[in-house]
Amino acid sequence: MDRCKLLLFADDIAVYGVHGKGRGDAQLRIALKAHYRWSVRWRMRFSPKSQLVQFTALRDATRPHVKPIRLGPTVLSLVSSYRYLGLLYDDRLTWRQHAEATAAKARQRAYLISRVIRRGRPPDVRAVRTLVLAMLVPIITYGLPFWRVRAHRINEFNSILCAPLRRVLLLPSSTHRLTVLADCGVPDVASLISMSSITYAQRVTALPLSHPCSVILKQRQFVSFSTRVKSQLANWSLTMDSSSAAVHRAASLAQMATWRADGACRDLVAIRPLSAFGTAAYILFDDAVTCAARARLRMNRSYLHHSQHRRHLRASARCSCGDDDETVAHLLVCSNYAHLHGALRAVPFVFDASLLMGEVSWLRRSRHRRLALQVGGAFLRSLCELRPRGI
Ligand SMILES: [Zn+2]
Repeated sequence: MDRCKLLLFADDIAVYGVHGKGRGDAQLRIALKAHYRWSVRWRMRFSPKSQLVQFTALRDATRPHVKPIRLGPTVLSLVSSYRYLGLLYDDRLTWRQHAEATAAKARQRAYLISRVIRRGRPPDVRAVRTLVLAMLVPIITYGLPFWRVRAHRINEFNSILCAPLRRVLLLPSSTHRLTVLADCGVPDVASLISMSSITYAQRVTALPLSHPCSVILKQRQFVSFSTRVKSQLANWSLTMDSSSAAVHRAASLAQMATWRADGACRDLVAIRPLSAFGTAAYILFDDAVTCAARARLRMNRSYLHHSQHRRHLRASARCSCGDDDETVAHLLVCSNYAHLHGALRAVPFVFDASLLMGEVSWLRRSRHRRLALQVGGAFLRSLCELRPRGI
């Protein structure tokens, strides 16, 4: 038995020989015989799910043939991958199959959430955001410190997280993913990866030194993980003792920095304060119609002529009044909507385009911030009714 290794977690057992090739197979056979004898003695039965994986970097044609390996009377079936403790290990020890399975499961959950979304009816964006955080994020973050998400998968997972949010906000699928996530206060996948690594390292550090997780983290194979966590902590100005709230705040700020650096939705980047992070105020405040209109304005997916012109959907950006391009700022002075401007001028602050787009944080008083969202929301709803295609 000293020539094989056992990995045990509750009733999940993985066994492997310490050597490779035929020698390792022989070690495994001896170990499995001993296991079977033990199970007979104690009247235990191994699960029929028990299977065999041949880990090798060799291609299929050049792989050495594995003679049948038995667990008692049962010949273990040779499979190309096996799910152990929720992670799918393939025979080349890549994470491709696990990433594909995770994406498929997350996509199915996103579809289930999207299915309950109906135009003009509950659930609203706040409820959908909660569903995304509760049902989708845990699927993607499961076991994250132990498997590597490749760069192209990060975009794919971000798209999956975005899908129900885009749907509830009536945004087209071309809407910038990172902007949707940043506005809705849902962490992007890069932040989730960093956050889960830091949280895991913090938890292990708090365990006794003799705990198996502490022992494993100090092993040579985990040096790159520890180095990555240390550099992440330094980048986010955190320590191993930082609170969970501090880690979440740092992750949100990092998400906003990534969003700004991505170069999309430049109008929104320009008006959103550098210190802003977390869910945008309008998402927490607006009703469904206003929220969708504001999201379209913020993410350059509106029916305003200027927005459509920028997206090559319209030849001219000119407003129908003929005075100027139909931008968000122009709506506040456009003669077509002069009868609606009175309410905007009645507020005790200057009502500009950034307030109409829901960026109210520069107003000092919470009463004023609420008033700006209310007045701007009423104006947007009136525009939605007046304009043939809405905002
Ligand atoms: Zn006009």
